[in-house]
Amino acid sequence: MPTPELKVFRRSELELVTDGCLWRYSKLYREGVDDASDLSLIGIGGHAVMYAYLTRLVAKGIPQDIEEAEAAFVEGIAAVQTPPRLIPEVKHVWDYFVPYYTLPVDRFVAAESKEAHGQVGFTCDLVLAHPDRNELEICDWKWGWNPPLTEDALKALFQARVYARYGMETWPGFTTYRFTLVAARFNKFVSVVFSRADLDSVDLEVAAAVATIRRCEQTGQWPAVPGPACQWCELECPAVSQVGDLPKRLLEARQAQAVASWVLAGEAQLRSAKKALKAYVAGHGPVEVNGVVFDNRPAVSRAYPLIEVVNTIHQRNAAGAFDDQPFTIPASNLKKPFKAFPELEQALAGVATEKTTYRFASKRAGDEDTDEGDD
Ligand code: SF4
Repeated sequence: MPTPELKVFRRSELELVTDGCLWRYSKLYREGVDDASDLSLIGIGGHAVMYAYLTRLVAKGIPQDIEEAEAAFVEGIAAVQTPPRLIPEVKHVWDYFVPYYTLPVDRFVAAESKEAHGQVGFTCDLVLAHPDRNELEICDWKWGWNPPLTEDALKALFQARVYARYGMETWPGFTTYRFTLVAARFNKFVSVVFSRADLDSVDLEVAAAVATIRRCEQTGQWPAVPGPACQWCELECPAVSQVGDLPKRLLEARQAQAVASWVLAGEAQLRSAKKALKAYVAGHGPVEVNGVVFDNRPAVSRAYPLIEVVNTIHQRNAAGAFDDQPFTIPASNLKKPFKAFPELEQALAGVATEKTTYRFASKRAGDEDTDEGDD
């Protein structure tokens, strides 16, 4: 008996399942709901323009050319019929990104290459081969406001791992496989190299996503589960669409009970409102209210290894630098080492300093009144 042909799923639809929102999957891929947001239309425009540009550069054998970039812009926009209201935005990102971009023409393998392996279909925006290090590189353009991923986040990204895993099958024989994500709006390239061992579980993840779809088809249940896709999702959604009214001012003392009730619900609501706003900003750009701008900004934190700090203070005889401000470590930072080595806590008990302050907070009745803070 011939083996029945397996359905090929797009990488993006399987990614939606791995993100967890089966409601969105069902709406888009089973019911055919059109979810073409401005963000996705801008992305489609950007991809088409970039594809036209790469094709022109390869045809001429040149790494960059501003006239070709302009011609590619017109060609790409026309090819996908970007709505006129969005053309200035695509042009804005294009003009920012393209002067910095150079194509290593001698390393070009393919652009907009549609591939399929097993039950996964995927399109590679650009494929390069680097003979000097026997490496295949798959590049993917992003045109949205989402801040560039860290290397760790990119290494965990379903798209990156699927592309690298099945890139190995499509273009075998390379020593290493690299996935590069290009955040055009930030002119930032983030790149990771995968070994075969890194990608051991990809086949299983794909199989699990396909099995999840099959199971939902059997049960008819497609739950809405908030996750990464909420950033750009504009569907009517049972999970996140019910936004309650927040009180505009605090009530009087006699209504404290009512206010406390609201605080409990409000704190949870504020958390989810901030999460939703953060996701909206990542997908659509900064939001300004009365001169206050909400945006995802880089935050740099710096930490020093404790042992090095102590050794350096001793080496430099700099203990006096802390005379006015004794150098202490919050007890909360020692929770893990104390748990692993309880004798440490006993040994340090004699030098611990303790102070009690009071702060406004809520606790479940019956819980301890004191809290071990960071001071
Ligand atoms: S908003 Fe989030 S939870 Fe709701 S359908 Fe979209 S992705 Fe799913």
